[in-house]
Amino acid sequence: MEMGLTRLSLKTPGDYEKVQCSVLGQSGLNFKGVLFRRCIMSKVWLTAALVFAIAAAGCSVLPGARHEIPPYPLLSENRLALTKEYARIHYGIDGYKLKDPRLVIIHYTAFHTFQESLDFMRPDELSDIRGDIRSGGRVNVGAHYLVDRNGVIYNLLPDDIMARHAIGFNYTAIGVENVGRDRNDLTEAQVEANIKLIRRIKNKYPDIEFLIGHHEYAVKELPHYILFRELDGRYRVTDKIDPGDAFMAKIRAGLRERYGLHLKH
Ligand SMILES: [Zn+2]
Repeated sequence: MEMGLTRLSLKTPGDYEKVQCSVLGQSGLNFKGVLFRRCIMSKVWLTAALVFAIAAAGCSVLPGARHEIPPYPLLSENRLALTKEYARIHYGIDGYKLKDPRLVIIHYTAFHTFQESLDFMRPDELSDIRGDIRSGGRVNVGAHYLVDRNGVIYNLLPDDIMARHAIGFNYTAIGVENVGRDRNDLTEAQVEANIKLIRRIKNKYPDIEFLIGHHEYAVKELPHYILFRELDGRYRVTDKIDPGDAFMAKIRAGLRERYGLHLKH
């Protein structure tokens, strides 16, 4: 499932010609770059073509409009086996299924590009640079969704499979990653995409009652903390700063004001 910006595209050389014609008026360049004259179009066509032109111009400045990736790029037999191992050690759960999610956790990837972000999560096994959590199991970190900087949402894992993204909550949390190096690297398009995505997740899973940023996950005073579960006493939560209060405040305001949706912290 993919959601996000609707991208208008020019499908045929004919479409391109019409757009050029509408922009340039009585003369312009056709698809092959040959000058042509006398462009006769009805008002309706002119308006439609202008919309096309504006959309096409807008898309051209968006960073990498849409990436072609296979469905559920993080899903593999090996990853499911490693996830099952993780679920047994940390939650005492026999299986990799995410049952009755109650919580959505928002992150950023700490990478500036979509490709770097995906490449980091793609291997089934944790890389050596995550030595801080390697003792907690071999399955790689991952998330259910990855939101690109232009607001396009990619579904990396089915949302009924556990993803490793937040110590203590993976058995019940849906994880949303945002492409971004740090909190200042996140975009308004991502805010919009997160609002729509969370509302969609809530519609699908009405039992979800909590929404937090990863930086809030270890705060014991917050209501979501009743869900914390960790059987391995040596496995400690790590300090997190993603995605930050400002990003979460915008998402919460959007959910509240647009959809009347109040999710607890
Ligand atoms: Zn995070």
